[in-house]
Amino acid sequence: MVKLSAVSAVQGGLLLAEISGVKAGTEISAEWADRATPIWRETPSDATLHALLGVDLDTAPGQKEWKLSWTGADGNAVVCSVPVIVRAGKFATERLQVEKQYVQPDPEQLKRVEEEQKKMQAVYDTITPEALWKGKFRVPLQNVTTGGNFGRRRVLNGEARSPHAGVDFPAAAGTSVFAAQAGKVVIAQNMYYPGNTVVIDHGFGIHTLYAHLSEIDVHAGDSVEVGTEIGKVGATGRVTGPHLHWGLTINHARVNALQIVQRQP
Ligand SMILES: [Zn+2]
Repeated sequence: MVKLSAVSAVQGGLLLAEISGVKAGTEISAEWADRATPIWRETPSDATLHALLGVDLDTAPGQKEWKLSWTGADGNAVVCSVPVIVRAGKFATERLQVEKQYVQPDPEQLKRVEEEQKKMQAVYDTITPEALWKGKFRVPLQNVTTGGNFGRRRVLNGEARSPHAGVDFPAAAGTSVFAAQAGKVVIAQNMYYPGNTVVIDHGFGIHTLYAHLSEIDVHAGDSVEVGTEIGKVGATGRVTGPHLHWGLTINHARVNALQIVQRQP
């Protein structure tokens, strides 16, 4: 039996899935948005399996399918398709002025951007086959419960740009930024658009990103706990002022990070 936390999700939404009634040890494969869905058991003998389905911010609204397959007790292949309705998000359009080099980068800057995007893709392509998280995810700032701007369509210096894939928290430069959850630091470096950036791998295709930091206090390869200080709020990269940009990707899908605080995997 497959149970989803909801039958529909808005663009940038997150669904929790539970599969039960499958004999312990049965290998299940699943596919969502043309990618294999990581599925896990909390303990190896557990009969219930779990998965997270991220609905990328740019998914076209309509009915999608989560496809599952496994080998039944009689040795025959079982295939099942779970419908998921994707609803259009209500995302405002925002017009901003930024430094010219962040809208019209020169060839050298473009080359750098492409290299950084390749590195990001490689990070998101790497699915660590274990849960590195423990307990609840948290918001990465102290005494903050909500942030904004997720999904906003952006017009920068009069030119349309990709939608805003993270949550922005206004905060003073120098404010401490904490890991939203335990995991392994996979990126800790300066990048062109996101400035000083940290990406943490939490396992099973779950990654969080922290951008525009004034300083980075961790290194790639470090293991962090939930609440480890990873850097300070800043205004590096393409920004209009100091703030923390917090991103969450679930197996490449860019989703609203605040949802993982509300919906525990
Ligand atoms: Zn942002």
